[in-house]
Amino acid sequence: MGHQIMINDFVAFVQDIYSTDDFIPLHVPRFEGNEKEYVTNTIESTFVSSVGAYVDQFEEMIAKKSQTTSGVAVVNGTSALQVALRLAGVKEGDEVLTQALTFVATANAIAYNGAKPVFLDVGQDTMGLSPKAVERFLNEYAEVREDGCYNVKTGNRISACVPMHTFGFPVHFDELATVCEEWKIPIVEDAAESLGSLYKGKPTGSLGSFGIFSFNGNKIVTAGGGGAIVTDDEEASQHAKHLTTTAKKPHDYEYYHDELGYNYRMPNLNAALICAQLEQLDTYVENKRALAKEYADFFERKGIKFRKEQSDSRANYWLMCVELEDRKERNSFLEETNDKGIMTRPIWQLLYRLPMYEHCFRDEQQNAEYLEDRIVNIPSSVVTEEIV
Ligand SMILES: *Cc1c(COP(=O)(O)O)cnc(C)c1O
Repeated sequence: MGHQIMINDFVAFVQDIYSTDDFIPLHVPRFEGNEKEYVTNTIESTFVSSVGAYVDQFEEMIAKKSQTTSGVAVVNGTSALQVALRLAGVKEGDEVLTQALTFVATANAIAYNGAKPVFLDVGQDTMGLSPKAVERFLNEYAEVREDGCYNVKTGNRISACVPMHTFGFPVHFDELATVCEEWKIPIVEDAAESLGSLYKGKPTGSLGSFGIFSFNGNKIVTAGGGGAIVTDDEEASQHAKHLTTTAKKPHDYEYYHDELGYNYRMPNLNAALICAQLEQLDTYVENKRALAKEYADFFERKGIKFRKEQSDSRANYWLMCVELEDRKERNSFLEETNDKGIMTRPIWQLLYRLPMYEHCFRDEQQNAEYLEDRIVNIPSSVVTEEIV
């Protein structure tokens, strides 16, 4: 099939799905449930800020959705990860294992704790942190001591491992957990993109010691801006709430803060929006999975690889993507589709290409570089029409 015909067919296919000839973005939110009602309630109550009923309601909802015992509402996913890492025991000078193929926030949250990201390769199948890469690194560099795992070459403590479930596709968690347990390293899941995804029937975010979600405007459900930490550790969750509300001791009128806290609490106005959005999460996931099936059939006919979930997972298909032949194919696909008003975007540049992370340790990155050259996101918004 000619390249040009394929591009034209793709453009027509996407325009048909979204029933428009106008510009089609990668991902837009939809507010067709109780959003207006809840936001209006908040304004009328005057409790728009960090005290209010929707914040509490949201924390209950997110814990329930992720099948954990507690959720903590915060201002965004980045701050959720920053605080979760601190609670997992990450301290200044430590090393934290993660992937270079991720959004910059994953590494930023590590750096905000004064720790150094160690970039290990992803699996070519999941596009998330590879258990084999982690095992290889630890076998070569690590040693378990009384107070945790250490990198014997640098002398630094390795205090956490942060896998990221890329575009909603779960990592091979059990294999990763086996390795991390052996080396006494807690796992903090960056589940910012994978709310609603299941791994072996369990929600991502509930698998590690801590999980975090993002409710930024482009995620599967949005608070405008927002995030959450989820965990089964009740004490840690209380501490997270304390830390994210300036570590203030409750008192009728005195100001007393017993440690260095943050002003990271989610405002009630945002919580109102996300409560209404969460009510629709399951429908959105179903809708996206139906769209993924349509795309899969389309690209199969064209001989192009549409990325699918692993057999042990049920992905939320937050952002869908294709894998093209090479960087040249990728670039021409990006150029021609964007030129025709269909937004497409390459996967992130690997984080060690960015100035603040270029000096960090990294392994061979074979799979990450392979995917960097080939993966392109395609329009993935929930579809209004009767596709489902
Ligand atoms: C969106 C995202 C975040 C951060 O979320 P914000 O709410 O924008 O701070 C973190 N990690 C990954 C992988 C993300 O995609």
